[in-house]
Amino acid sequence: MSPEPPPVQELGKAQYDGWACCWCGKSLLDCGGTSAGISRGSVGAVVLDIEVFACPSCAVAPETPRKDH
Ligand SMILES: [Zn+2]
Repeated sequence: MSPEPPPVQELGKAQYDGWACCWCGKSLLDCGGTSAGISRGSVGAVVLDIEVFACPSCAVAPETPRKDH
């Protein structure tokens, strides 16, 4: 279960454009990012939903099937 990314309104431009981690704002140019899901938001009738990315420190491995079983 990965947390929902922040809403679009809380993202900076770099975060919205996928250049920075949606959680901490760190630039992803050096370390690369992994998908953090879809950030949702709208302004008036315009839907701004967009895929956002997380840096390695913030990204929780989404495909870790089980830990203690
Ligand atoms: Zn981060």
